[in-house]
Amino acid sequence: MDVFEIKDKDLAGRIGVLRTRSGDLRTPAFFPVVDPQKQLVTLKELEELGFRSVITNAYLLWKRYGKEVAEKGVHRFLGFEGVVMTDSGAYQVLRYGDVDIDNRTVVEFQCLIGSDIGVILDVPTSYDVSLGDAKRSVEVTLSRAREVQELVTSCSATLWVLPIQGGVYTDLVRFSAAEAAKLTGYSMYGIGSPVTVMEGYMFDKLVEMIVAAKSVLPPDAPVHLFGAGHPAIIPFIVALGVDTFDSASYMLYARDERYMTESGTMRLSELDEFPCECPVCSRYTPDELREMSYGERVKLLALHNLHVIMRELKRTRVALREGRLWEYLEAKSRMHPALKRAFDAVRRFYRFLEMYDVDSKGVTKAVLLYSLESVQRPRIIRRRRRIEDMGIPLWASNIVVLPGLPFDKPYSDSALARYVREVLGKDYLLVFMAPPLGAVTELLTYAYPWSQYESKYSMSVSEVEDAVGMVMEVIVKSSRRLGRVVVVDLKECEWCEYAALRIATELRSIGIEPVILSIKCGDLYRDFLCRFSTLAKP
Ligand SMILES: [Zn+2]
Repeated sequence: MDVFEIKDKDLAGRIGVLRTRSGDLRTPAFFPVVDPQKQLVTLKELEELGFRSVITNAYLLWKRYGKEVAEKGVHRFLGFEGVVMTDSGAYQVLRYGDVDIDNRTVVEFQCLIGSDIGVILDVPTSYDVSLGDAKRSVEVTLSRAREVQELVTSCSATLWVLPIQGGVYTDLVRFSAAEAAKLTGYSMYGIGSPVTVMEGYMFDKLVEMIVAAKSVLPPDAPVHLFGAGHPAIIPFIVALGVDTFDSASYMLYARDERYMTESGTMRLSELDEFPCECPVCSRYTPDELREMSYGERVKLLALHNLHVIMRELKRTRVALREGRLWEYLEAKSRMHPALKRAFDAVRRFYRFLEMYDVDSKGVTKAVLLYSLESVQRPRIIRRRRRIEDMGIPLWASNIVVLPGLPFDKPYSDSALARYVREVLGKDYLLVFMAPPLGAVTELLTYAYPWSQYESKYSMSVSEVEDAVGMVMEVIVKSSRRLGRVVVVDLKECEWCEYAALRIATELRSIGIEPVILSIKCGDLYRDFLCRFSTLAKP
């Protein structure tokens, strides 16, 4: 039986089921880091919050409680029936240098205590190391993976994670992933050590790292991201195809009296009111929290932080199922400049997203368009390319360029289109300028996304320019054989007037003299629709 089954996809993200010895885990899933020695939030409380998975450090378990955990098994020791992942101690290596356990021992120990998911003793690549050191971490990690290959194969009740190293050196990450993919016995891959990357807020580096690894790894293999725990980045890493991730940040932030929100972090000291309805924030005021003992306060802040992480995880899964991850990321990117940078970092890899994105998804759901960024998603880019490639069909020689109005769809059956056909006759192919989507010939106006979107009515200059550019792209290949070219100037629709002016200029520049057909928007549509169709200047 496959350990991982993909149920749904959007962009490079997926909803899946990870099959472990402790039952099925729905992904994307978050693994809160738990430390039995100083766990303020109990595992029962984690379960009540909806977490079915936790991660704890195998090295620390071995060092502090070796015999007891070995006898009881890790689930009984922790008092947790869900999925328990154990990390090998790599984080300690990254933070404090060496650990006094060897690879074989830590793997045997994880097998013995019945971890659902185990990790070999890898050598994480810190983000600030030299290329030479990064290479070494890749090589040592791979040789350790080979060293215990028989061991992990024989302990198949545990799912074994093979960490991918290489840090910010993406060629190395690709090499590491390619070599890892060749080794049998491992059913999951871990993207190693972004902790230090995250701490340095180098989200674009993290995106590069994930894309580099994912481009090489088998597409249906589950991928874990170590140390990713801020709710704000959850939708971004999920969109890139990360299935599970872990972090202690909920606790680290709480100890530092920091309060997580879905778009950033606030200090408890600067809050007059909690912008949240979780049980903690509903029950207490910031003042009350500040008056409590440090221990009580930290625990309540940690509970709130976990709540925000869970809420973001759920919202991301819902957006994914709906085929609206792109819209979700776009909306997030407006909440904080750091998230805008994250969105820009993801957008740079649209070809990667396109590779994974499923075409049929979203066809039944209307696309929500806010700006040009909204159309830079794989499914729409593909559609735009197809329209440009098709150009003007051979049987058509006369064309009309006219606005595609967001409030009258499908365009080919709009009041404007019908009026134009009445005036000019049927011997014309209609080409619509429809910012921010671009341009479309009447043949495809019923297809996705042209008839299934919601948009604003006011267009920006750059959105209109984009549509004009696309119309020219469609026309230019057939320009020599075109007969009559008519441009509709829809008066009182400000962006339409600008578009008509621009397209006429562009046509003249390639030697086509268009006939201008002026129509009053108010004659066909209600006044307010025309009035709202403004041209927004930057
Ligand atoms: Zn709260």
